[in-house]
Amino acid sequence: MRTRFAPSPTGPLHLGHAYSALLAEGMARASGGAFLLRIEDIDSTRSRAHWEAQIYDDLHWLGLRWDEAPMRQSDRLPAYEAALDNLWARELIYPCHCTRRDIQAAAAAPQEGAEPAYGPDGLVYPGTCRDRLAPGYGATPRPHGAALRLDMARALEQIGFGMWFEESGAGPDGETGRITLSPAQLLARVGDVVLSRRDFPGSYHLSVVLDDAAQAITHVVRGRDLFEATAIHVILQRLLNIVTPVYHHHALIRDERGKRLAKRDDARAIATYREGGATPEDIRRMVGLGG
Ligand code: GLU
Repeated sequence: MRTRFAPSPTGPLHLGHAYSALLAEGMARASGGAFLLRIEDIDSTRSRAHWEAQIYDDLHWLGLRWDEAPMRQSDRLPAYEAALDNLWARELIYPCHCTRRDIQAAAAAPQEGAEPAYGPDGLVYPGTCRDRLAPGYGATPRPHGAALRLDMARALEQIGFGMWFEESGAGPDGETGRITLSPAQLLARVGDVVLSRRDFPGSYHLSVVLDDAAQAITHVVRGRDLFEATAIHVILQRLLNIVTPVYHHHALIRDERGKRLAKRDDARAIATYREGGATPEDIRRMVGLGG
């Protein structure tokens, strides 16, 4: 078993991160496997070196050790570019120039009485820029400086309409075991997601799939908030000939009022507890992992 913890250095690690990391490491250790670390720093506008340093410091303090050198997404651009070239040549991605406001306006326009649908990335893309290029465009150079979206309908055609993965934890509604999604569900609830951003050759979905494969992760342990995104990751794995790992989505740590901890909830930052004199065992206890 190979598990990983993949934080973004865009703020302090909080109790939810500690839970995820301790759980992933515990699962790897229990099976004699490996635990890996990956710094998800593709968002250069929000990633900061001091947050990255704090991640290493907090994880060491918690007693976590990773078995290989950490991977940093900012070092992985050639792999992302190669995958985008592949998808472009197969005409599975297309350029999109829509702003968030364009998408909102198009999704709100009255259309056959359909309610705008929300997917893992917010509003499901209404398809404005799809089919703007004539077939054969895959032989032309891939454009830079535009967002590139997955053509979900074409993707589903290519993968033979099969989408399933093994869930060893549980989704938000208790989903566990073999999870399947039909093409109709994928089109309606996920749609044409962004695989490359205007300012960066890649997106969370593309990077996470390529990086989990490069780190040979067998069990992806992460919060239930990412359960919906897993369908996208599995589709990308099928398209790129990558073996699908087992997914283990875990419960989210909530505050005393039952509210989910926000990414930048400094009050529950591990650093704040450390300053207040908490021990690593206290943190384990707080997230329900004994100690
Ligand atoms: N970097 C993501 C986050 O900090 C986690 C990605 C993942 O575990 O797949 O929310």
